[in-house]
Amino acid sequence: MDPLAIYIHVPFCARKCAYCDFASFSGREADWRRYFEALWAELESWSPRLSGYEVASVFFGGGTPTLVPGEYIVETLSRARAIAPFTADAEITLEGNPGTLTPEKLAAYRSAGVNRLSLGAQSFDDRLLRSLGRIHTAAQIGEAVRLARTAGFGNINLDLMYALPGQATEQWLHTLDAAVSLEVQHISAYSLIVEEGTPMADRVRRGEAVIPDDDAVNAMQRAAIDRLAAAGYGRYEISNYARPGIECRHNLTYWRRGDYLGLGCAAHSMLRETRFCNPASLDAYLSGEREVDKQVLTREDAMEETVLLSTRTARGIDLEKWRRDYGTPFAEGREEIIARLSAAGYIEADEGNLRLTRRGFEVQDAVVLALLEEQGR
Ligand code: SF4
Repeated sequence: MDPLAIYIHVPFCARKCAYCDFASFSGREADWRRYFEALWAELESWSPRLSGYEVASVFFGGGTPTLVPGEYIVETLSRARAIAPFTADAEITLEGNPGTLTPEKLAAYRSAGVNRLSLGAQSFDDRLLRSLGRIHTAAQIGEAVRLARTAGFGNINLDLMYALPGQATEQWLHTLDAAVSLEVQHISAYSLIVEEGTPMADRVRRGEAVIPDDDAVNAMQRAAIDRLAAAGYGRYEISNYARPGIECRHNLTYWRRGDYLGLGCAAHSMLRETRFCNPASLDAYLSGEREVDKQVLTREDAMEETVLLSTRTARGIDLEKWRRDYGTPFAEGREEIIARLSAAGYIEADEGNLRLTRRGFEVQDAVVLALLEEQGR
Protein backbone atom coordinates (compact mmCIF):
# COMPACT_ATOMS: atom_id res chain seq x y z
CA MET A 1 0.00 0.00 0.00
CA ASP A 2 1.25 3.51 -0.77
CA PRO A 3 1.12 6.11 2.01
CA LEU A 4 -1.32 8.98 1.54
CA ALA A 5 -1.53 12.29 3.38
CA ILE A 6 -4.95 13.94 3.56
CA TYR A 7 -5.28 17.70 4.05
CA ILE A 8 -8.66 19.08 5.09
CA HIS A 9 -9.24 22.82 4.84
CA VAL A 10 -11.55 24.50 7.35
CA PRO A 11 -11.83 28.04 5.98
CA PHE A 12 -13.54 29.80 8.90
CA CYS A 13 -12.10 32.29 11.37
CA ALA A 14 -13.60 34.38 14.15
CA ARG A 15 -11.95 37.46 12.68
CA LYS A 16 -9.52 38.05 9.85
CA CYS A 17 -5.95 38.77 11.02
CA ALA A 18 -4.32 41.90 9.60
CA TYR A 19 -1.63 40.00 7.67
CA CYS A 20 -3.69 37.05 6.44
CA ASP A 21 -4.18 36.24 2.79
CA PHE A 22 -5.17 32.58 3.32
CA ALA A 23 -8.52 31.26 2.16
CA SER A 24 -10.27 32.03 5.43
CA PHE A 25 -13.54 33.80 6.04
CA SER A 26 -15.17 35.40 9.05
CA GLY A 27 -18.88 36.02 9.49
CA ARG A 28 -19.86 32.90 7.52
CA GLU A 29 -21.23 30.89 10.47
CA ALA A 30 -24.45 30.28 8.51
CA ASP A 31 -22.42 28.28 5.96
CA TRP A 32 -20.54 26.03 8.38
CA ARG A 33 -22.93 23.09 8.18
CA ARG A 34 -23.33 23.39 4.41
CA TYR A 35 -19.57 23.52 4.00
CA PHE A 36 -18.99 20.33 5.99
CA GLU A 37 -21.74 18.54 4.10
CA ALA A 38 -20.02 19.51 0.84
CA LEU A 39 -16.69 18.39 2.29
CA TRP A 40 -18.10 15.00 3.33
CA ALA A 41 -19.56 14.51 -0.14
CA GLU A 42 -16.19 15.38 -1.67
CA LEU A 43 -14.45 12.95 0.68
CA GLU A 44 -16.82 10.16 -0.22
CA SER A 45 -16.44 10.86 -3.95
CA TRP A 46 -12.80 9.82 -3.55
CA SER A 47 -13.59 6.39 -2.16
CA PRO A 48 -13.32 4.47 -5.47
CA ARG A 49 -10.13 6.28 -6.42
CA LEU A 50 -8.07 5.53 -3.33
CA SER A 51 -7.44 1.82 -3.72
CA GLY A 52 -3.79 1.00 -3.10
CA TYR A 53 -3.46 3.83 -0.59
CA GLU A 54 -3.19 3.79 3.18
CA VAL A 55 -3.69 7.04 5.09
CA ALA A 56 -0.52 7.87 7.02
CA SER A 57 -1.49 11.39 8.07
CA VAL A 58 -4.42 13.77 8.20
CA PHE A 59 -4.02 17.51 8.71
CA PHE A 60 -6.93 19.83 9.48
CA GLY A 61 -5.71 23.30 8.49
CA GLY A 62 -7.34 26.62 8.01
CA GLY A 63 -8.75 28.93 8.78
CA THR A 64 -9.36 27.88 12.33
CA PRO A 65 -10.47 24.24 12.58
CA THR A 66 -10.95 24.62 16.34
CA LEU A 67 -13.57 27.33 15.78
CA VAL A 68 -16.29 25.07 14.37
CA PRO A 69 -18.23 22.60 16.57
CA GLY A 70 -16.03 19.65 17.53
CA GLU A 71 -18.61 17.22 16.13
CA TYR A 72 -17.75 18.38 12.58
CA ILE A 73 -14.14 17.31 13.06
CA VAL A 74 -15.18 14.02 14.65
CA GLU A 75 -17.61 13.26 11.82
CA THR A 76 -15.04 14.16 9.15
CA LEU A 77 -12.51 11.74 10.62
CA SER A 78 -15.04 8.99 10.93
CA ARG A 79 -15.98 9.41 7.26
CA ALA A 80 -12.32 9.52 6.24
CA ARG A 81 -11.72 6.20 7.99
CA ALA A 82 -14.59 4.73 6.01
CA ILE A 83 -13.07 5.58 2.61
CA ALA A 84 -9.51 4.32 3.13
CA PRO A 85 -7.55 2.30 5.70
CA PHE A 86 -5.43 4.29 8.16
CA THR A 87 -1.99 3.15 9.28
CA ALA A 88 -1.94 2.09 12.94
CA ASP A 89 0.17 5.12 13.88
CA ALA A 90 -1.41 7.68 11.53
CA GLU A 91 -0.49 11.23 12.53
CA ILE A 92 -3.67 13.30 12.84
CA THR A 93 -3.09 17.03 13.30
CA LEU A 94 -5.59 19.75 14.06
CA GLU A 95 -4.63 23.40 13.72
CA GLY A 96 -6.18 25.67 16.27
CA ASN A 97 -6.33 29.12 17.71
CA PRO A 98 -5.56 29.34 21.44
CA GLY A 99 -8.63 31.54 21.92
CA THR A 100 -11.03 28.86 20.73
CA LEU A 101 -10.20 25.76 22.77
CA THR A 102 -12.38 24.23 25.47
CA PRO A 103 -11.87 21.02 27.48
CA GLU A 104 -14.98 19.58 25.78
CA LYS A 105 -13.66 20.21 22.27
CA LEU A 106 -10.23 18.84 23.15
CA ALA A 107 -11.76 15.68 24.61
CA ALA A 108 -13.83 15.20 21.44
CA TYR A 109 -10.76 15.59 19.21
CA ARG A 110 -8.79 13.09 21.27
CA SER A 111 -11.55 10.53 21.25
CA ALA A 112 -11.76 10.84 17.45
CA GLY A 113 -8.05 10.04 17.18
CA VAL A 114 -6.52 13.51 16.78
CA ASN A 115 -3.02 13.07 18.21
CA ARG A 116 -1.25 16.30 17.27
CA LEU A 117 -2.33 19.86 17.99
CA SER A 118 -0.82 22.80 16.15
CA LEU A 119 -1.53 26.13 17.80
CA GLY A 120 -1.23 29.47 16.05
CA ALA A 121 0.55 31.31 18.86
CA GLN A 122 2.58 33.78 16.75
CA SER A 123 3.87 35.88 19.66
CA PHE A 124 3.90 36.07 23.44
CA ASP A 125 3.68 39.86 23.34
CA ASP A 126 0.12 41.11 23.80
CA ARG A 127 0.78 44.40 22.05
CA LEU A 128 2.12 42.62 18.97
CA LEU A 129 -0.75 40.12 19.06
CA ARG A 130 -3.23 43.00 19.04
CA SER A 131 -1.46 44.72 16.16
CA LEU A 132 -1.64 41.47 14.17
CA GLY A 133 -5.38 41.28 14.84
CA ARG A 134 -5.08 37.97 16.69
CA ILE A 135 -8.08 37.07 18.85
CA HIS A 136 -6.05 35.62 21.74
CA THR A 137 -3.62 36.86 24.38
CA ALA A 138 -0.22 35.49 25.38
CA ALA A 139 -1.70 34.07 28.58
CA GLN A 140 -4.26 32.13 26.54
CA ILE A 141 -1.47 30.34 24.65
CA GLY A 142 -0.11 28.89 27.90
CA GLU A 143 -3.62 28.05 29.02
CA ALA A 144 -4.36 26.28 25.71
CA VAL A 145 -1.19 24.19 25.99
CA ARG A 146 -2.08 23.20 29.55
CA LEU A 147 -5.64 22.30 28.55
CA ALA A 148 -4.37 20.26 25.60
CA ARG A 149 -1.90 18.40 27.77
CA THR A 150 -4.59 17.64 30.34
CA ALA A 151 -6.76 16.29 27.52
CA GLY A 152 -3.94 13.87 26.62
CA PHE A 153 -2.13 15.63 23.78
CA GLY A 154 1.53 14.66 23.88
CA ASN A 155 2.46 16.23 20.55
CA ILE A 156 1.88 19.99 20.43
CA ASN A 157 3.25 22.51 17.96
CA LEU A 158 3.38 26.27 18.36
CA ASP A 159 3.50 28.44 15.24
CA LEU A 160 5.53 31.59 15.88
CA MET A 161 6.20 34.62 13.70
CA TYR A 162 9.09 37.05 13.64
CA ALA A 163 9.92 40.18 11.62
CA LEU A 164 6.70 41.72 12.95
CA PRO A 165 6.16 45.47 12.65
CA GLY A 166 7.86 47.22 15.54
CA GLN A 167 9.31 43.95 16.89
CA ALA A 168 12.73 44.15 18.50
CA THR A 169 15.04 41.12 18.66
CA GLU A 170 14.62 41.16 22.45
CA GLN A 171 10.86 40.69 22.07
CA TRP A 172 11.44 37.79 19.70
CA LEU A 173 13.81 36.16 22.18
CA HIS A 174 11.16 36.54 24.85
CA THR A 175 8.63 34.78 22.59
CA LEU A 176 11.06 31.93 21.88
CA ASP A 177 11.80 31.50 25.58
CA ALA A 178 8.11 31.54 26.46
CA ALA A 179 7.41 28.86 23.84
CA VAL A 180 10.30 26.70 25.04
CA SER A 181 9.19 27.04 28.66
CA LEU A 182 5.86 25.44 27.73
CA GLU A 183 7.81 22.29 26.77
CA VAL A 184 5.98 21.73 23.50
CA GLN A 185 7.36 19.09 21.15
CA HIS A 186 7.51 21.17 17.97
CA ILE A 187 7.97 24.82 17.04
CA SER A 188 7.50 26.45 13.63
CA ALA A 189 9.10 29.89 13.26
CA TYR A 190 8.13 31.86 10.17
CA SER A 191 9.12 35.33 9.10
CA LEU A 192 6.10 37.57 8.48
CA ILE A 193 5.50 38.09 4.77
CA VAL A 194 3.52 41.26 4.08
CA GLU A 195 1.07 40.19 1.38
CA GLU A 196 -0.45 42.70 -1.01
CA GLY A 197 -4.12 43.35 -0.42
CA THR A 198 -3.99 42.81 3.34
CA PRO A 199 -4.63 45.57 5.93
CA MET A 200 -1.03 45.04 7.06
CA ALA A 201 0.28 45.94 3.59
CA ASP A 202 -1.80 49.15 3.69
CA ARG A 203 -0.36 50.04 7.09
CA VAL A 204 3.19 49.44 5.89
CA ARG A 205 2.53 51.57 2.79
CA ARG A 206 1.17 54.41 4.91
CA GLY A 207 4.21 54.20 7.21
CA GLU A 208 2.06 53.23 10.21
CA ALA A 209 3.79 49.86 10.52
CA VAL A 210 7.53 49.46 10.11
CA ILE A 211 8.95 46.04 9.30
CA PRO A 212 12.41 45.30 10.78
CA ASP A 213 15.21 45.65 8.22
CA ASP A 214 17.05 42.68 6.66
CA ASP A 215 19.85 42.70 9.23
CA ALA A 216 17.35 42.60 12.09
CA VAL A 217 15.35 39.83 10.40
CA ASN A 218 18.51 37.76 9.86
CA ALA A 219 19.47 38.32 13.49
CA MET A 220 16.04 37.07 14.58
CA GLN A 221 16.33 33.98 12.43
CA ARG A 222 19.79 33.18 13.80
CA ALA A 223 18.53 33.75 17.32
CA ALA A 224 15.75 31.23 16.72
CA ILE A 225 18.15 28.60 15.42
CA ASP A 226 20.51 29.03 18.38
CA ARG A 227 17.88 29.28 21.12
CA LEU A 228 15.91 26.32 19.85
CA ALA A 229 19.01 24.18 19.32
CA ALA A 230 20.13 24.96 22.87
CA ALA A 231 16.70 23.86 24.10
CA GLY A 232 16.93 20.53 22.24
CA TYR A 233 14.86 21.28 19.13
CA GLY A 234 16.44 20.05 15.90
CA ARG A 235 15.98 22.19 12.80
CA TYR A 236 14.68 19.62 10.31
CA GLU A 237 13.32 22.15 7.81
CA ILE A 238 14.16 25.80 7.20
CA SER A 239 11.35 27.02 9.48
CA ASN A 240 10.57 23.91 11.55
CA TYR A 241 12.10 22.58 14.76
CA ALA A 242 11.24 19.45 16.67
CA ARG A 243 12.26 17.22 19.51
CA PRO A 244 14.07 14.19 18.05
CA GLY A 245 11.69 11.76 16.33
CA ILE A 246 8.68 14.04 16.51
CA GLU A 247 8.97 15.90 13.21
CA CYS A 248 5.65 16.59 11.48
CA ARG A 249 5.20 13.60 9.16
CA HIS A 250 2.41 15.27 7.23
CA ASN A 251 4.55 18.25 6.24
CA LEU A 252 7.50 15.97 5.45
CA THR A 253 5.23 14.34 2.88
CA TYR A 254 5.01 17.68 1.02
CA TRP A 255 8.74 18.26 1.16
CA ARG A 256 9.48 14.69 0.05
CA ARG A 257 6.92 14.86 -2.74
CA GLY A 258 4.74 12.10 -1.36
CA ASP A 259 1.13 11.80 -2.50
CA TYR A 260 -1.45 13.99 -0.79
CA LEU A 261 -5.13 14.64 -1.25
CA GLY A 262 -6.50 18.06 -0.32
CA LEU A 263 -10.18 18.44 0.48
CA GLY A 264 -12.21 21.60 0.91
CA CYS A 265 -11.89 25.02 -0.65
CA ALA A 266 -8.40 26.10 -1.73
CA ALA A 267 -6.95 22.66 -0.95
CA HIS A 268 -4.17 21.37 -3.21
CA SER A 269 -3.49 17.76 -4.15
CA MET A 270 -0.77 15.74 -5.77
CA LEU A 271 -1.57 12.16 -6.66
CA ARG A 272 0.56 9.98 -8.95
CA GLU A 273 2.42 13.03 -10.31
CA THR A 274 -0.78 14.97 -11.09
CA ARG A 275 -1.42 18.28 -9.34
CA PHE A 276 -4.80 19.93 -8.96
CA CYS A 277 -6.62 22.13 -6.50
CA ASN A 278 -10.06 23.25 -5.41
CA PRO A 279 -11.20 26.85 -5.93
CA ALA A 280 -10.06 29.32 -3.27
CA SER A 281 -13.48 30.98 -3.26
CA LEU A 282 -15.83 29.62 -0.61
CA ASP A 283 -18.85 30.29 -2.81
CA ALA A 284 -17.31 28.53 -5.80
CA TYR A 285 -16.55 25.54 -3.59
CA LEU A 286 -20.07 25.53 -2.16
CA SER A 287 -21.50 25.65 -5.67
CA GLY A 288 -19.66 22.42 -6.50
CA GLU A 289 -16.51 23.50 -8.36
CA ARG A 290 -13.74 20.94 -7.84
CA GLU A 291 -10.31 19.84 -9.06
CA VAL A 292 -9.30 22.83 -11.14
CA ASP A 293 -5.86 23.64 -12.64
CA LYS A 294 -5.01 20.00 -13.29
CA GLN A 295 -1.40 19.54 -14.31
CA VAL A 296 0.41 16.30 -15.10
CA LEU A 297 4.02 16.80 -14.09
CA THR A 298 6.78 15.96 -16.52
CA ARG A 299 10.02 14.31 -15.42
CA GLU A 300 11.69 17.76 -15.54
CA ASP A 301 8.93 19.30 -13.38
CA ALA A 302 9.37 16.51 -10.84
CA MET A 303 13.16 16.95 -10.77
CA GLU A 304 12.81 20.70 -10.26
CA GLU A 305 10.34 20.23 -7.43
CA THR A 306 12.60 17.66 -5.80
CA VAL A 307 15.46 20.16 -5.71
CA LEU A 308 13.22 22.98 -4.53
CA LEU A 309 11.53 21.03 -1.74
CA SER A 310 14.27 18.66 -0.55
CA THR A 311 16.72 21.49 -0.05
CA ARG A 312 14.33 22.97 2.51
CA THR A 313 14.95 19.96 4.76
CA ALA A 314 17.95 19.05 6.88
CA ARG A 315 18.10 15.66 5.15
CA GLY A 316 18.43 17.32 1.76
CA ILE A 317 18.31 15.49 -1.56
CA ASP A 318 18.28 11.71 -1.21
CA LEU A 319 20.82 10.82 -3.88
CA GLU A 320 19.94 7.15 -4.15
CA LYS A 321 16.25 7.98 -4.53
CA TRP A 322 17.09 10.55 -7.19
CA ARG A 323 18.97 7.89 -9.13
CA ARG A 324 16.06 5.46 -8.76
CA ASP A 325 13.40 8.00 -9.74
CA TYR A 326 15.20 9.75 -12.58
CA GLY A 327 17.68 7.11 -13.77
CA THR A 328 20.68 9.41 -13.53
CA PRO A 329 23.05 10.49 -10.74
CA PHE A 330 22.17 13.93 -9.32
CA ALA A 331 25.78 15.11 -9.65
CA GLU A 332 26.00 14.27 -13.35
CA GLY A 333 26.47 17.54 -15.23
CA ARG A 334 26.52 19.45 -11.93
CA GLU A 335 30.05 18.55 -10.82
CA GLU A 336 31.29 22.11 -11.17
CA ILE A 337 28.47 23.88 -9.36
CA ILE A 338 28.44 21.31 -6.56
CA ALA A 339 32.17 21.81 -6.08
CA ARG A 340 31.75 25.59 -6.03
CA LEU A 341 28.82 25.59 -3.62
CA SER A 342 30.63 23.12 -1.34
CA ALA A 343 33.83 25.17 -1.35
CA ALA A 344 31.81 28.26 -0.44
CA GLY A 345 30.22 26.41 2.47
CA TYR A 346 26.64 26.45 1.17
CA ILE A 347 26.14 22.71 0.71
CA GLU A 348 27.63 19.48 1.93
CA ALA A 349 27.28 16.04 0.41
CA ASP A 350 28.10 12.51 1.39
CA GLU A 351 27.28 9.16 -0.19
CA GLY A 352 23.61 9.37 0.65
CA ASN A 353 22.50 13.00 0.67
CA LEU A 354 23.21 16.48 -0.56
CA ARG A 355 22.06 19.10 1.92
CA LEU A 356 22.31 22.80 2.57
CA THR A 357 24.45 24.00 5.44
CA ARG A 358 23.19 26.58 7.90
CA ARG A 359 24.83 29.21 5.70
CA GLY A 360 23.20 27.68 2.62
CA PHE A 361 19.73 27.82 4.24
CA GLU A 362 20.11 31.60 4.50
CA VAL A 363 20.32 31.82 0.72
CA GLN A 364 18.27 28.76 -0.20
CA ASP A 365 16.66 30.45 -3.21
CA ALA A 366 20.03 31.26 -4.76
CA VAL A 367 21.42 27.77 -4.10
CA VAL A 368 18.34 26.16 -5.66
CA LEU A 369 18.63 28.44 -8.67
CA ALA A 370 22.28 27.52 -9.13
CA LEU A 371 21.54 23.79 -8.92
CA LEU A 372 18.59 24.11 -11.31
CA GLU A 373 20.46 26.20 -13.85
CA GLU A 374 22.81 23.29 -14.34
CA GLN A 375 19.80 21.02 -14.89
CA GLY A 376 18.52 23.33 -17.64
CA ARG A 377 21.76 23.23 -19.65
S1 SF4 B 1 -6.37 32.75 12.33
FE1 SF4 B 1 -4.97 32.15 10.64
S2 SF4 B 1 -6.28 31.72 8.88
FE2 SF4 B 1 -7.52 32.86 10.38
S3 SF4 B 1 -7.38 34.98 9.74
FE3 SF4 B 1 -5.75 34.64 11.28
S4 SF4 B 1 -3.93 34.05 10.09
FE4 SF4 B 1 -5.71 33.88 8.73
